[in-house]
Amino acid sequence: MSDFGFDDELPGGFQDADIEMAQLEAAAARDARLLKAGRCPHTWIQGPPGPPSAPRRDYLCHHCGATFATREELEQSSRQARGE
Ligand SMILES: [Zn+2]
Repeated sequence: MSDFGFDDELPGGFQDADIEMAQLEAAAARDARLLKAGRCPHTWIQGPPGPPSAPRRDYLCHHCGATFATREELEQSSRQARGE
């Protein structure tokens, strides 16, 4: 590895960031396919608004409008949509 963070040992001149970007693009494409097929993976989430004393404390998915009382419920529903 050079002093500038360039790893010249990876094949094809790819860098770790290229590999990470490809993984992110693949995950986004998978979630887009799920959403198009009607299985929302809840990737556009607004967390509980305001301070802890706010009256509304749920998570809202802006794709499908589903709400979740806890982060765990949200993540469980996302995993279910992805078949995990
Ligand atoms: Zn959703």
